[in-house]
Amino acid sequence: MTDSPRFRSDMTVELVKHSAADTDVLWAARVSTAGEQSLEELEKDPQRSKGLINYLMRDRHGSPFEHNSMTFFVSAPLFVFREFHRHRVGWSYNEESGRYRELEPVFYVPDASRKLVQQGRPGKYEFVEGSEKQLEVVQEQMTESYRQSYAAYQEMLGAGVAREVARATLPVGLYSSMYATCNARSLMHFLGLRTQHELARVPSFPQREIEMVAELMEAEWAKLMPLTHQAFNANGRVAP
Ligand SMILES: Cc1cc2nc3c(=O)[nH]c(=O)nc-3n(C[C@H](O)[C@H](O)[C@H](O)COP(=O)(O)OP(=O)(O)OC[C@H]3O[C@@H](n4cnc5c(N)ncnc54)[C@H](O)[C@@H]3O)c2cc1C
Repeated sequence: MTDSPRFRSDMTVELVKHSAADTDVLWAARVSTAGEQSLEELEKDPQRSKGLINYLMRDRHGSPFEHNSMTFFVSAPLFVFREFHRHRVGWSYNEESGRYRELEPVFYVPDASRKLVQQGRPGKYEFVEGSEKQLEVVQEQMTESYRQSYAAYQEMLGAGVAREVARATLPVGLYSSMYATCNARSLMHFLGLRTQHELARVPSFPQREIEMVAELMEAEWAKLMPLTHQAFNANGRVAP
């Protein structure tokens, strides 16, 4: 491959497949008390349905939120995936291989919206805007380093070295892609940890780049399960 490196500052998330609706939660919850019911029955009384979802969320009765599925195609740098794959429960992953295919030269470079400077002591810090000079240094150094490491990768491949060996020279700013499948309960646990939100009862301080992915996922999920999403927010963004 002779592509020259490309640089990106964004993350992308595409909802490729789903079977997820608020009625899935209601159906699962009401089997406890009313036995099997048709979905039409469940949609008859929206206020009652909303109340039930809120009650389940508030009392952390979590299993009714598992009877649904969402598959996302995510494109993000390797350091984001490294954090993402720590989420073990209720998630399935398949990521592109650096052994079976040549990796494309797409790399992460922060844009001006990324706060660059950390202030405060460990455990109690915040990020603030960087100066123009700092952004310039970040962008220059990253692009230069990416170019060098991708040229080294190409040189090794050109010399007949296996992809799985040559890739060791590539940095964590390289973009990768994966399918990630979850349900609403596992997504809520992820969102609670990987977003910073004014409604969160338990604040979290995620790295901005994984938060960008989380925000895109949340926007897709909110369209599919609006009542569940509202109840998540109303109850402090703690997964049930
Ligand atoms: C802001 C932030 C900073 C972080 N910093 C670091 C860091 O510096 N270093 C680092 O290594 N990680 C770090 N992590 C990762 C973190 O420790 C978790 O691995 C990650 O958030 C996944 O959370 P989880 O284990 O709850 O999720 P999941 O793996 O999805 O598990 C979900 C839940 O299942 C239960 N569970 C899962 N596995 C077990 C088990 N083996 N035993 C008992 N209960 C289990 C727990 O209740 C858990 O909350 C950080 C995470 C965040 C959000």
